[in-house]
Amino acid sequence: MRRPIMAANWKMNKTITEALNFLREFSLGIKEPGGMDIVICPSFTALYSVGQELEGTGVKLGAQNMYWEKSGAFTGEVSPVMLDDAGCEYVILGHSERRHIFKESDEMVNRKVKSAVVAGLKPIICVGETLDQREQEKTFSVIEEQIRGALKDIPVADLKETVIAYEPVWAIGTGKTASPEQAQEVHRYIRKLLGEICGGEFANAVRIQYGGSTKPENIKSIMLQPDVDGALVGGAGLEPDSFLKMIQEVSASEC
Ligand code: PEP
Repeated sequence: MRRPIMAANWKMNKTITEALNFLREFSLGIKEPGGMDIVICPSFTALYSVGQELEGTGVKLGAQNMYWEKSGAFTGEVSPVMLDDAGCEYVILGHSERRHIFKESDEMVNRKVKSAVVAGLKPIICVGETLDQREQEKTFSVIEEQIRGALKDIPVADLKETVIAYEPVWAIGTGKTASPEQAQEVHRYIRKLLGEICGGEFANAVRIQYGGSTKPENIKSIMLQPDVDGALVGGAGLEPDSFLKMIQEVSASEC
């Protein structure tokens, strides 16, 4: 049984005050997050304060990005050591907004994954096809290239805590969710591919999240798919109420 993992990616939203207001409401509803991992990924500026507020709640802290070097002359960048120091357990890497707006390549994602695991961070590696690629029936080849690229030359033992997030680009922030069958088809493919790259034991244990316009109304049918182990949530993770409802749906349905 894989433990479900629900993560909220706040992107470039919420000041420190707004983040703390969210948490005050959220923690009233969350009590003990038994049975699943819950991760909040605020902006860099709110990481430390959010981490302090989460202490003792069982809810985990994640960052949305990082650079691969430990320190040095890299103006504007944040290192894995700094994320660890701020209390992060997880880090999202290769989000499609990083790939498309900031031109992150598979090679850059690979360097980040390598350096995250060395620092003891758990990477959430995002992969996904654009609408164009799906229409040209390139979904599987795109995903294969992104996954092989991200994991290149990393020993399987270092990847034990890694999470994969399948996020079809056409579903992110668009209100268009992949159907449960579409999500399952790609998740099953990812698990099979991970079996080829990292071995069957790893593939059976690795958690694969779905991301793309998930909300309280659709999370259950997606989570009921056998290869879906959680969600990376954008818009619906910004409101305590909707994120809480999603968590309740997941725990109630014993996905
Ligand atoms: C995301 O950006 O990771 C995401 C899944 O966003 P949304 O839920 O808003 O589509």
